[in-house]
This record gives sequence, structure tokens and C-alpha cells, in this order.
Amino acid sequence: MSNTKNINMKQVWQQDKDHYVHPWTDFSTFKEQGSMILADSDNVHVVDGEGKRYLDGIGGLWCVNIGYAREEMAQAIADQIMNIPYYSSFGHHTTVPAAQLSAKLAELAPGNLNHVFYGCGGSVANDTAVRIIHFYFNQLGKRSKKKIISRIDGYHGSTYMAMSITGVKFDHIGFDIEEELVHHISCPNPYRRPNDQSIEAFCDEKIQELEDKILELGPDNVAAFFAEPIMGAGGVIVPPKGYHRRSLDVCRKYGVLYVSDEVVTAFGRLGHMFASDDEFDIVPDMITCAKGLTSGYLPLGATIMSDDIYDVISVPQEDGALFTHGYTYSGHPVSCAAAIKNIEIMEREQLCEHVMDMGAYFEEQVKSLGDLPIVGDVRGRKFMMCIENVANKETKELINPDAAVGNRIADHCQARGLIVRPLAHMNVLSPPLTLTKENVDFLVSTLRESIEATTQDLKRDGFL
Ligand code: PLP
Repeated sequence: MSNTKNINMKQVWQQDKDHYVHPWTDFSTFKEQGSMILADSDNVHVVDGEGKRYLDGIGGLWCVNIGYAREEMAQAIADQIMNIPYYSSFGHHTTVPAAQLSAKLAELAPGNLNHVFYGCGGSVANDTAVRIIHFYFNQLGKRSKKKIISRIDGYHGSTYMAMSITGVKFDHIGFDIEEELVHHISCPNPYRRPNDQSIEAFCDEKIQELEDKILELGPDNVAAFFAEPIMGAGGVIVPPKGYHRRSLDVCRKYGVLYVSDEVVTAFGRLGHMFASDDEFDIVPDMITCAKGLTSGYLPLGATIMSDDIYDVISVPQEDGALFTHGYTYSGHPVSCAAAIKNIEIMEREQLCEHVMDMGAYFEEQVKSLGDLPIVGDVRGRKFMMCIENVANKETKELINPDAAVGNRIADHCQARGLIVRPLAHMNVLSPPLTLTKENVDFLVSTLRESIEATTQDLKRDGFL
């Protein structure tokens, strides 16, 4: 901790406000308020520019799985920089960490997902998946098989293609997306199903919708289905039991590849290195991951593919063309070294086992907030949870969006030393996986107080 004492934080705040174009930002408030500076950190806590300490309920952005400021991570990163900080792996060069990490990921990934392509994050991992899938079908002579199916409220990233695959309609406002290639089906959110519909009938309907969409577009035109095991940014949607298994069966029936976007769910968040098989009983054709792969210490994303896909894309093309896909920083040795150290720490400290235990307690405690009058639904699993706030628990009617209820709750939490993430009328939680029972109790009691305080504010302001 702290070598930030001599920094003029007021000046930093001004520099940021004047020159840093922030991602995912409401500029109407940013231009007035600027940013909260995060200057320091330690395990599950972060410290702002004024020295105030917060429990980080969102692990940075669903990513700081092993916790902050680990010295052995810093050392592993420094060691790799002193060995060789960078070399391209275009063609026939490689580095020790890139090779070793690939073998480790092949060992951890389910089924025959034995081949890894690297980029700098989750969006790029998904873009890469699309490019490779298109190339794969071209190699097979199935040149019309190009379309992608994904779900409303799925989030897959912010590059042009990843944002097109994303189905959160709010995220598309004011921007363009690729509508020819990408088609969305509805979200399997059990909370929003009709009151008189059973969960089984709801699931049947969603599976039928996938099959109908493939038939409507034509199986010869559909290349892949993209799905997160649990939707994250769309509001932590846990699909009905059997949904993924049955979706995979439909995909197999029509020769459609299944891409499991595990950018959030991999590396321990649900208590497994990968959730697809261990939690949802599917071995997809590809898994994309990022975030927890390095616990956010350095940027890295991976697209992990099956032997079957690799065997096709690695056959030399007839006209002598190359596999012309790759980034300067594909397989960056320092990021790969950080990922190797991250996985080593997770295994040594048995963080998946800890999540099975403490994550179950966390889930149970967060679910206890369901008794509060504005909490309509509390959902999620282990260290990936969401609270959906409503005006009426019976009808599930939403509170007027102008009330910005998610922001209000987050502000109350922040004043009490806790960071939670607002998502419209919801709040999501994805803390570091090292949380203790004491941390869980603080987090949940602070959240309870903050939701109660927000309820009073909403009444005062005429929103309830
Ligand atoms: N996929 C999922 C499921 C995500 O949650 C995210 C980011 O939150 C992405 C992809 C995009 O990852 P990145 O922001 O690293 O590009």
C-alpha cells in the first residue's frame, strides 16, 4: 500500500475531468461531478483519493477475483518483464508464459477444448470467436453459415461485433450495430415470466424459440449461438434448470456452434474454474474468458476452442493463404505470466472451494434482503448476485426510472464504506472471492441499511 501520499489529488481530479474520455459514462453528470479516484487497495478493500476505505462489492468490474495488491503477483509480473517483456507470437515465435498458460487452460477447460487464442479482453475474445467461426465454416466450404444468434439482455462486449451480439437494448441507443449477421431471441429471465406460467413451460418456450429462430434464418445460414452461463450485465439472469443443456442439443441438431461466454463466470466466481460443464452440464464448442483470468491485474482475454474446430482451421488453405488473424498483443508474455500466477494462487488457496462455502453463505445472506418492501427479486449464485428493486412486489411494476433507484442505493452504500454497482433499477454484486464471513456480514447489513434509507428517500420524493 501507499506510495500515493505526495500526489495532488485535486489536480488529478481536474486532469481526469478535462482530458480522460471515460468508458460507459453519463457525461451530463460526469462534466459536473468528475470522478471518484481510486488510489490504493488491499485484498477486498479499495481506498479513494482522500484516504477513505471501501469494501469493494464489485471486484473492480467482476474481475479482481484473488483480491487486490498481491505482492507475489507484482513479483511475477516484474520477473517476466526482466526476462522478456514482449515478443510477438505471429508465426513461429512464442514465449514461455504463452505456451505454459495455453497448456494450463487446456487442462482446466472442459471436454476437448484444447486450443487457445489470446487477445486483450472479453470483447476481443468474442470478436475473435466470430472471425474464427466464419473462417471455420469457409474452410468447410459452408460459406453461407455466418449468422449469430444471441439473447436479449446478454452482454458480450463493446467492440462493433461484440456490441452487436450484446442484446441489452439500452446499450445500443445512439450507436449502430450489425443487424444482418446478428439476431436476438428473448431472455430466459424466470422472474419476468407470466404469473400463470410454470418454470418448465417457460423453459420449453425459450428452447422452442431458439429452434424456431434457427429454422427461420435457415440452418445453412446460422453459424453460432452465443450465451453467458449466467447473464451478468443484463441483470444476473440465472436461466431455468436444463436451459443450457437443451439449447446445446438444439444447436447440435442443426450444426450450429455453441459459444459459452465465461468472461464473468470463469475463474471461481461460481466456485469452478469454468462453469459451463461443472455448473451447467454443457461442453460448448468454444469458451471465451477474460477478467478473472488475470484477476484484472493485466489485460488478457482468451478464446478456447475444441480440437474439432482447431483441426479445421489449422489445415493449410489451398491457395497458400495464412490464418490471418491476430493482434500485436496476442499471448502477451507479461499478461500470460500474470494469468499463470493468478491460477496458481487460486489453486494453492483453494479459492473455488472457498467460494463453494463462503459464496453459498453470501448467496443466502443477500437473498435475505428479499423481505425489504422494494426488493422484488434477489437472484444469482455464489459470488455473482443481483437485487432487483420494484415499486410493487405483487405486480413487479418498476419504480419510475427518473428515481434512479440503483444509483441512490449505490450512493447510500458508498457513504457507508461499500461499493455496489447500479444497473438501472438493480444493483449487482461480484466481490473478490477472498471475502470472509465478517466481510459478508458487513456487506449485507450495509446494503440493508442503504436500501432502507433509499426507500425513505423515495417516499420523501414522491416516487413511492
Ligand atoms: N462478455 C461478458 C459476459 C462480459 O461481462 C464482458 C464485460 O463485462 C465482456 C464480454 C466484455 O469484456 P471486456 O470489457 O473485457 O472487453
